[in-house]
Amino acid sequence: MIAKTVKNVFEKHGFPVYFAEYDAVATDKSNNEKGYKTVFLTYMSYAYSPSPEQNICRYAALEDYHKYLPKKLEGIKKELEKLFPENIFDIYTDSSPINEKAAADISGLGIRGKNTLIITKEHGSFILLAEIISDIELPCKASEPVYCLNCGKCEKACPSGALKDGLINIERCVSALTQKKGALKKEEEELIIKNGLIWGCDRCQEVCPYNENAEESDFAKNSVKLTKVTSEDIKGLSDRQFREKYAGRAFTWRGLEPIKRNIYLIENKGEDNDDRSDKSRS
Ligand code: SF4
Ligand code: SF4
Repeated sequence: MIAKTVKNVFEKHGFPVYFAEYDAVATDKSNNEKGYKTVFLTYMSYAYSPSPEQNICRYAALEDYHKYLPKKLEGIKKELEKLFPENIFDIYTDSSPINEKAAADISGLGIRGKNTLIITKEHGSFILLAEIISDIELPCKASEPVYCLNCGKCEKACPSGALKDGLINIERCVSALTQKKGALKKEEEELIIKNGLIWGCDRCQEVCPYNENAEESDFAKNSVKLTKVTSEDIKGLSDRQFREKYAGRAFTWRGLEPIKRNIYLIENKGEDNDDRSDKSRS
């Protein structure tokens, strides 16, 4: 009965919901000061077809979901608080006290891809997980994780060979490299140049058959897309000015330095490394 009411509230706001026992997915089981019992796990699709000139990965070209998603979930939280005034409902969209992928596995939200991502039946893997965690106790059926088609396309498409046997070597993942601060090894620079995006990497999702028919999401439709950032756009900007200019974009969280480096590498194909800071500053 409670589960049905919670489901209705989520669906009214356009979100699906899946339930997982908090203790089964908490990252620190010894510390549950709030008395959490149940995870109401949800997701939002960010699928869309990028434009040919796009040099930023899909999610980062949209408005920052860290700002967009909590606002959306706030309406659900408020409604639940009215219906269950004795209980708590905490929203988590990024750093969360649970292992979101494990919660997605056991709650039935999605299946586990060989690219290590969660894939949903309806929207594929271009999704963002989020949850409301509550002290309401609900019966949660824990399903066994289900795995993908195992077609191997993601492994083949990965530009850096970071995927192997359903595991990711994050040190080699180009998405992580584009976000890494400081000097990169020559080989890492070459991977960024080869991938061609100044932030992120979508290759292992683009080739996945589960994403073939993913429709453009409402989030993507309603978001003002910023598809390309060039050296001209960041010319002469200080770190503060960069963060101000691109406020509300997820790629600003590491500051100007990695973006500037990545733009330089891609635009110059890694040549004239010694002049890099002067050229991109001028
Ligand atoms: S994001 Fe790119 S580099 Fe990272 S695992 Fe996927 S395809 Fe490989
Ligand atoms: S590309 Fe194939 S192997 Fe990789 S996650 Fe998708 S279905 Fe699984």
